[in-house]
Amino acid sequence: MKRKKVLIVEDEERMRILIGDYLKSEGFEVVEAVDGAEGIDKFEAQKPDIVVLDIMLPRMDGWTVCRKIREESDIPIVMLTARSEESDELFGFELGADEYVTKPFSPKILMARIKALMNRTLPDEIQALQVGCISIDTAGHTVSIDGKKIELTPKEYELLLYMLKNREIALSREQILDAVWGFDYYGDYRTVDTHIKRLRTKLEHCGEYIQTVRGLGYKFEVNS
Ligand code: CA
Repeated sequence: MKRKKVLIVEDEERMRILIGDYLKSEGFEVVEAVDGAEGIDKFEAQKPDIVVLDIMLPRMDGWTVCRKIREESDIPIVMLTARSEESDELFGFELGADEYVTKPFSPKILMARIKALMNRTLPDEIQALQVGCISIDTAGHTVSIDGKKIELTPKEYELLLYMLKNREIALSREQILDAVWGFDYYGDYRTVDTHIKRLRTKLEHCGEYIQTVRGLGYKFEVNS
């Protein structure tokens, strides 16, 4: 599966880097532009899948950039602004922005909006799951690390999928055993440990996403 490309148009360097780093940690490819005119250039040259667009920009404001993009494309646009005026928001939607995020915001919130937008506007992509450097094609049951396919047994695949769906939640060995092997399975918790160990190895540098929760079990978390 091709990684989704996000164009960030933001003149504040600190903000641009913050958003960019977060998106990269979530598995997106990031293209940056430092002003409105560069935003349009990069949009045309790089063909991004989604645009994160600041409003107050040098050389062409975000409104104009939004309008120009909409003349030729209906890709998702998330607008950023320091102001929280409702009229701004309405104006943004009128120009065709899909979402509106007011600064200051947490990268998590921005990420949630982006993901929701991608699912809404790209329904055919729901079968593909991208978490950090791991991408899963649930239709084809294939898993790739940084775009390179890896071989998993059916149980390892199920285990990975279960952990991904429940990411950022500490899961007990019992929960994992019940969910992946079933309630009537007579194995013990070492079955879970063994599979986790093998899965971590196969996931290479992404194996660190599976963290050991002492005295309980495991947690899947992508560090940002
Ligand atoms: Ca700005």
